[in-house]
Amino acid sequence: MALMTGEQYVESMRKLNMQVYMFGKKIECPVDDPILRPSLNSVKMTYDLAQLPEYQDLMTAVSPYTGKRVNRFTHIHQSTQDLMNKVKMQRLLGQKTAACFQRCVGMDAFNAVFSTTYDIDKKYGTTYHENFKKFLLNVQELDYTVDGAMTDPKGDRGLAPHAQADPDLFLHVVERRPDGIVVRGAKAHQTGFINSHEVIVMPTMAMGEDDKDYAVAFSCPTDAEGIFMIVGRQSCDTRKLEGAEMDTGNPTFGGMEALVIFDDVFIPNDRIYLNGEFEFAGVLVERFAGYHRQSYGGCKVGVGDVLIGAAAVAADYNGCPKVSHIKDKIIEMQHLNETLFACGIACSALGTKTESGNYLIDLLLANVCKQNVTRFPYEIVRLAEDIAGGLMVTAPSEKDLRDPKIGPYVDKYLRGVASVSTENRLKILRLIENLSLGTAAVGYRTESMHGAGSPQAQRIMISRQGNLRMKKALAKEIAHIKE
Ligand code: SF4
Ligand code: FE
Repeated sequence: MALMTGEQYVESMRKLNMQVYMFGKKIECPVDDPILRPSLNSVKMTYDLAQLPEYQDLMTAVSPYTGKRVNRFTHIHQSTQDLMNKVKMQRLLGQKTAACFQRCVGMDAFNAVFSTTYDIDKKYGTTYHENFKKFLLNVQELDYTVDGAMTDPKGDRGLAPHAQADPDLFLHVVERRPDGIVVRGAKAHQTGFINSHEVIVMPTMAMGEDDKDYAVAFSCPTDAEGIFMIVGRQSCDTRKLEGAEMDTGNPTFGGMEALVIFDDVFIPNDRIYLNGEFEFAGVLVERFAGYHRQSYGGCKVGVGDVLIGAAAVAADYNGCPKVSHIKDKIIEMQHLNETLFACGIACSALGTKTESGNYLIDLLLANVCKQNVTRFPYEIVRLAEDIAGGLMVTAPSEKDLRDPKIGPYVDKYLRGVASVSTENRLKILRLIENLSLGTAAVGYRTESMHGAGSPQAQRIMISRQGNLRMKKALAKEIAHIKE
């Protein structure tokens, strides 16, 4: 198969028997659920665009293992050009969905697990790399979407995994059998789990010897026995049930997160990629986080493009596109957004080849990229809200606009420039609301803070990678200091 169409992807998701809960009820058909469907549509876009000749270079790559063209989301990066194309692809998808399209976590997990399993095998003579390659080739052939699950609930942040009052607060091995292992625990904030065929599970942080049972990585189908998920709420999520598209701001696309429970799930031996080699847990986390911090220099920039466009349209509709401070604010938004893109491209351009053969981003610059992402989208949102005006949070509903009695008043009094309909003005304000406060704010704003690791996680990496010793030596040499 190698490349699925968007429709084939949707049909393939229907065949899964996932256990999904939302608002205290089991969802029988997540694919057709009005709250969840927009998130599926975002992933579908990763398949739709891969079919178009104009996007072939960005959306697809040739697998070095089979010689077949595969979706870039299933590709193992072979060059710095691949790394840069990844970021460009993510920007494109952000522009086309204005939401989180979810499929990147799997791609980032593939590349982190690929090189780390190679390193573990070299040290211990294990067969994790071969196990993983077998899984990967299957994913490439079937064009699967794969979730990457890293974040454990973590309980008491002051205690190591094994020292928690409840040992399941970090996912761990509870039974070892000749044919595999049984795992128990949960993964939180799981982006796109519901829209994925498979999941790669990784440890959430560096582990010590006492946490051996927690140093585990594997893959399994998202509908494996023992897995169930509880969908997270998003601000304004039930607007999707009201039958008033306009009020959602982005009627077609969205993202989703879930708390995923692994309630004694059996993992066969050939699906295991780390099992007790605790010193590699930190390596795996560092690489996955590095790739995902690079990713934010693409996806958030693409969504930022939509938000900047929406702010500029709002200025047009308000009749003030030429006012100097409005023009300046839009320039500032672009400057911030392109700075994020520059970081995403820079950490890719300076990537290096690992011993396993794939390419790793420059970790210092990837962490700088994500650190900027924890700040700039907030400022971009602030400026967009400034330009949009208070109406973005006080406007009446679509149903009021359509009402035969009060609709004409809404239409009359909420008009901006005379040549633009009130409906269009409200639509663009709802989009800004969606990106800054509504369902997409999960993916654009708060995820910019906490996704791929909270700000302090990047600062730790920056302090490790920043080579302060070399900088001190430079200063001493210039100042003619001899110690
Ligand atoms: Fe991809 Fe961005 Fe969503 Fe992460 S937050 S899965 S990088 S779109
Ligand atoms: Fe994310």
